[in-house]
Amino acid sequence: VLELCSASNPITVAKLMSRLFGLLIPVFLCALSLDAFAGDKGYDVTYYNAYIHLYRTQDSLAGIVTMQATADSNISQILQMRKYLAVDSIFVNGSAASMTQPDTNGSCFVNIQNPIPKGTQFSVTTYFHGKGEPEDGGGAWGGITDKSGMMFAMGVGFTCTYVSCTRHWLPCYDLPDDKADSVDLTFETPDTDVVASNGLLVSDLLLPNGHRQFHWHVGHPIASYLMTFAVGGFQKLSIPNSLGLPFTIYSFAKDTAAMGLEMRNHVAEALAFFDSLYGSYPFEKVGYVLAPFGSMEHQTMITLDPSAVAAASTTAQHELSHQWWGDHVTCKTFDDAWLNEGFATFSESLVLERFTNEAAYWTRQHSNINGALSAADSVPMFGAPSHVVKDNYPSAIIYNKGAAVLGMLRYYLGDSTFFHSLRTYGTEHAYATATSYDLWQSFEGSTGQDLGWFFREWVFRTGYPQLKLIWSKQGNMATLNYQQTQDSTKVGYFRVPMIVEGILNGVKERVPVWLDSTQFTAAQVQFSFSPDTILTDPDGALIKKILSTTEGVTPASSALSALKIHIDGNPIRDGKLSFDVDRKQSFGALTIQLANESGSIIETLFRDSAFGTHLHFDKNIKGLSSGSYFVMVEDGHGTTTAEKLSLTK
Ligand SMILES: [Zn+2]
Repeated sequence: VLELCSASNPITVAKLMSRLFGLLIPVFLCALSLDAFAGDKGYDVTYYNAYIHLYRTQDSLAGIVTMQATADSNISQILQMRKYLAVDSIFVNGSAASMTQPDTNGSCFVNIQNPIPKGTQFSVTTYFHGKGEPEDGGGAWGGITDKSGMMFAMGVGFTCTYVSCTRHWLPCYDLPDDKADSVDLTFETPDTDVVASNGLLVSDLLLPNGHRQFHWHVGHPIASYLMTFAVGGFQKLSIPNSLGLPFTIYSFAKDTAAMGLEMRNHVAEALAFFDSLYGSYPFEKVGYVLAPFGSMEHQTMITLDPSAVAAASTTAQHELSHQWWGDHVTCKTFDDAWLNEGFATFSESLVLERFTNEAAYWTRQHSNINGALSAADSVPMFGAPSHVVKDNYPSAIIYNKGAAVLGMLRYYLGDSTFFHSLRTYGTEHAYATATSYDLWQSFEGSTGQDLGWFFREWVFRTGYPQLKLIWSKQGNMATLNYQQTQDSTKVGYFRVPMIVEGILNGVKERVPVWLDSTQFTAAQVQFSFSPDTILTDPDGALIKKILSTTEGVTPASSALSALKIHIDGNPIRDGKLSFDVDRKQSFGALTIQLANESGSIIETLFRDSAFGTHLHFDKNIKGLSSGSYFVMVEDGHGTTTAEKLSLTK
């Protein structure tokens, strides 16, 4: 999806995730809609067969659709979604049935007399008609639009309370977690019009009534929101491509030359590029239809905004990459919409890198990072669509931050590992759905690395590191003291693998440095020269802010000697100890330990880098008995001191 780009999804996934990972995910209560029954609807869709009359000039349609499904539990009613459609009659396994009124999202139930036993196949045939309506909620993007001589369906809405808008023209199970294995869509229209749709065109017939009939067959699994049709007096053009795929574009005659040029010059090469990078193109054809507005990754029939038919735009490539990320591997719920949009936005950067240059990649990624910084404090990527009011596709969070996060993962893992893992993830979830957790598991499986810290920080949490650096040098050795200054109670501290660059007279040298997920991190790095400048993250690859970089003076070792500790409180009585440390140097490691009378360590009270000459700590300590103890303090430079502590009840 790309626009100028909504949703009250169920909270169950967020709750489950927070239980699994002990994360603090904001849980928003939303009005209970039937969509909340999504995962538990009790059946598995296998096939849709629809015959639809399109009355473009009246902006209306009428049709029949048969859904075939298998009950995966005993079911006594069948969930269906339809919006702005009237049902004339409905049959379950050929017997007339009734149905409940749709709720505001369009969810309703087909009532059945005898429960359908688990494992049984059944069919629901619905006769329907309606006006072709766009989404409500003021967006008027998703759903059906009749404009500029064409009528077309956009699979998602930006502001409606549901997301998928296929329910505006096809009664169906309209959530992404259950794909139909195959679909036949047949459209009848006056013979002056052409209908573009998903899959392969099986037949294009002139009927005795003077109408024209287009039969499209989708031979691969498809989520409902990726189904579409567009009807109008289109011209059709085939685009040659090195993969030898059927590649057809539909547009009005006045636009065919410009659109054909964009496809031949930029999209065909992107198709071959993605095919080699992500794995073989997953579907039976490539298709585009030019619409008056809006770009949407409908499976094998992408709807394209006029602005995309411009040399500088990467929108057509964005939508093409969705055929792998979105259509082939589909987000299981729209809470994981970043798995679609972050991937497609990142794919645009990769296209720029491949066909322009590396600088163009970084320029685009920096713009994604800036977008992420503008919104990264609001809600995490996971669940963002549910939590951003009136925006099913919050662009800074799921497009910009999504692309920036994938860029960081690439930067950290390196190209061969990253792209290998990406292809593995694609294979593991081929023609199916995935969640953020699936991506995390898949990358851990293929890399053999613990990546929990990365996914927790960037997918399930808000915020970003805001860093202050004080550094000093002794010869070629630089001591770096980083402080994370973001509000740790709101966003916590980040574990950050990063690159630090030392510079002397234009000569540059890079070293990797890890920030711990603590307030202070000290690192000593060795250069082959004595740097006069230190740059943190010189490529600007990370979502972060550097607030200041200051060169300090490393104290002479004699000045490190003064180290004092003052202890307050009695942990036996009040369970708590306070201590104040005074030292001469203003930064560096500090270890504070509690030992028994014979010097054995009982507990480490603090071990970290610290800033300041005066430090105050409070520590809860339980389970001590009366007696004598020592609090021992060790400075990072080898200076130690100890204070005796006599405790009684
Ligand atoms: Zn998109």
